[in-house]
Amino acid sequence: MPELPEVETVRRGLEPAMVGARFTKVMQRRPDLRFPFPEKFAERLEGQEVRALGRRAKYLLADLSSGEVLIMHLGMSGRFLVTKGGETRMPGEFHHEHGGLGAHDHVVFQLSNGASVTYNDARRFGFMDLVPRSEIETCKHFAAMGIEPLGNELSGETIATLFAGKRTPLKAALLDQRLIAGLGNIYVCEALFRTGLHPEAPAGSLVTKAGKPTEKAHQLADVIRDVLSEAVTAGGSTLRDHAQVDGSLGYFQHSFKVYDREGKPCVTPQCTGVVERLVQSGRSTFYCPTCQKRSRAR
Ligand SMILES: [Zn+2]
Repeated sequence: MPELPEVETVRRGLEPAMVGARFTKVMQRRPDLRFPFPEKFAERLEGQEVRALGRRAKYLLADLSSGEVLIMHLGMSGRFLVTKGGETRMPGEFHHEHGGLGAHDHVVFQLSNGASVTYNDARRFGFMDLVPRSEIETCKHFAAMGIEPLGNELSGETIATLFAGKRTPLKAALLDQRLIAGLGNIYVCEALFRTGLHPEAPAGSLVTKAGKPTEKAHQLADVIRDVLSEAVTAGGSTLRDHAQVDGSLGYFQHSFKVYDREGKPCVTPQCTGVVERLVQSGRSTFYCPTCQKRSRAR
């Protein structure tokens, strides 16, 4: 499943192909993906210019000259292919030959700059929607959404506000989309490891009695930003899909310090610990029991 860094990588890859260009033709090849396409989807896009391409959590947001925003979500297996001047590339992934439309190419955007952007989604958990710009914050996709982890909003202070009094395990609180949006399992494991925090420690242990952030809360905010930025720089990672669909592998996985390393020695110098796995809310957590002690939240 594409995580936030992959979505950001895709955004950066699509930006030069889409921003400043008009949709000259939109081919919608099915009535729905995970949800039905909005009414008159192609008609509402054709002739409109893409003014900017943003991202909120794992959603891509194309700001249109019509005053609407095209919301695009990659779901589990969604990907974009950009073709321009005979060359095809897949932002965030790799170069390959793309001959004609495949069975899973569901939407094709032709743009006034000569680029063509194809949305491919084998499992169809992705979706697209059109929402007036003035209603973006309150629309169903974003109304209950937490803060953006790559933005300036995330700080020790915000963590203190969000986690105060919470007995929920730290891992679960960090994955709660209503608190912080778009932080995936891999990156939460890595961030907790780098901060030396036990995944089962109560979220509230990062907050002092006076409601102030602990030293670890400040550290965690910085580490989350670092882990995500490093992954964006490395071009994102999509472990399972990469391995299954095309055999190529993401880049960032090579620098995972705990994720998927159960039974392997901890990478911290001088630490003799072995990475363990536990299951929290049905998802694997990897951690070093020596580096990540419960009592170290402060
Ligand atoms: Zn360790």
